[in-house]
Amino acid sequence: MQLNSENKFKSLTSNIGKLQLRDQKVLIPAMNRMASHLMAAAFRSFGVQAEVLETYQGLHLGQKYTSGKECFPCQVTLGDILYFIEKEQKRLGDAFDPRKYLYFLPESDGPCRFGMYNKYQRIVLDSLPGLDRLKIASPTAKDGYSMSGLIDPTKALDIRKVLYFAAVVADVLDRLLWRIRPYEKQAGAADQFMEKSLQQMEATFETFGSQKNFSRILDQMEVIIKEGKKLIDPDIPRKPLIGIVGEIFLRMHVDSNQDLIRKLENHGAEVVNASLAEWVNYVSYAESRKAKRNLRYSLKQLNWRGATKHLKDLINYFGDLFYQQFRQNQIYKRAHKSIDVADEHNIAHLEDTLKKAGIYSFDITTEACLSVASILNYVREGCNGVVNVYPFTCMPSLTTSSIVKPVMKQIGMPYLDMAYDASIQPDNESTIRTFMYQANQHFKRPINNSLMFQYKYCT
Ligand code: SF4
Repeated sequence: MQLNSENKFKSLTSNIGKLQLRDQKVLIPAMNRMASHLMAAAFRSFGVQAEVLETYQGLHLGQKYTSGKECFPCQVTLGDILYFIEKEQKRLGDAFDPRKYLYFLPESDGPCRFGMYNKYQRIVLDSLPGLDRLKIASPTAKDGYSMSGLIDPTKALDIRKVLYFAAVVADVLDRLLWRIRPYEKQAGAADQFMEKSLQQMEATFETFGSQKNFSRILDQMEVIIKEGKKLIDPDIPRKPLIGIVGEIFLRMHVDSNQDLIRKLENHGAEVVNASLAEWVNYVSYAESRKAKRNLRYSLKQLNWRGATKHLKDLINYFGDLFYQQFRQNQIYKRAHKSIDVADEHNIAHLEDTLKKAGIYSFDITTEACLSVASILNYVREGCNGVVNVYPFTCMPSLTTSSIVKPVMKQIGMPYLDMAYDASIQPDNESTIRTFMYQANQHFKRPINNSLMFQYKYCT
């Protein structure tokens, strides 16, 4: 790869980060179709020209500019942005101006590689003619994905609230799809209905987002849920329930996970996937834990200035968590008035679950602590099988697998690891079929496994 070396290092700091979103077309990766579109609509309501990138069409480009050692989501997202640019260059010809776009790629710190995607993709863009001028806007987990620095300071807090609301509404609508699709009266009706609902919900966010008119948004969500519920055939009996955990991109990105949820459904499952908001809540929770630890340390050192700063951080993160919990409860409560979609796992409860089980700790951070705890909760809630979905070689998910597999074996809970890169593995189909056979057996079993499980791991 030919790198434009002169400004290479400067570019890693000046062309990535908290860059203003105004006056440019903001390009949002489609990690989760529903959430990305609702968040883009929320952005547009605040006057930001946001658009969701077409996804998985440019995988060949992602692969061309990576070595294969990178995480698979990095390849997919890189392919998406390069594909968009290629198409836009063809469409506009000489009028194409990279400065008119801003690629929106959040990052996270911690021991795994998510924090490196934007740096790596920056290097790739800088190596291609003219694309050093296409900047990357990156909200970061370090400040709980605050929007300050990205948008007019008077709107930063409001837009963050509306984006969070959009993420939770998207989670609920995804859960609605997984609740109705296995029981639909007419094949294909649920998918068609959700596409139409997505457009209605986008329009609702565009109209009411910037006004923070959450009750109008909830009204629309309720209308959709009530309509969706009508698609269920009451004569179809409930099916084995499968809980999904794993790496956030892979478990949400339907193309990357080769439509795993649909495949499980085709083999007789009802599925619930871990949510998007879970990660946002976890980031606020993890930052509050960090602030608490730093505060304790500063007090021990009699460092009053440090203690004041950490106390302020702690109050801020507690405030975020309180707000997020409040909104999430409000949205799920409204949904539960009409349908029994799966509830959200509370992060503090997940930590308690791990403490009681004594098999892993939130101190180790990363998605593994969420996945291990969520699996224990799925079992307790009556799931008949658990699937851990992740990119090939993903570190936190392999950790999850190593911790959880022996426990699942001990309690007789069907468990499946599904690792993906872009390759099609012919034996996946039979693996899923076998897993679903075991889940069915579990479903029919009279023994109350969840009680046995609570006795062993949760008391
Ligand atoms: S969670 Fe897994 S896939 Fe994601 S950056 Fe970390 S190692 Fe890579």
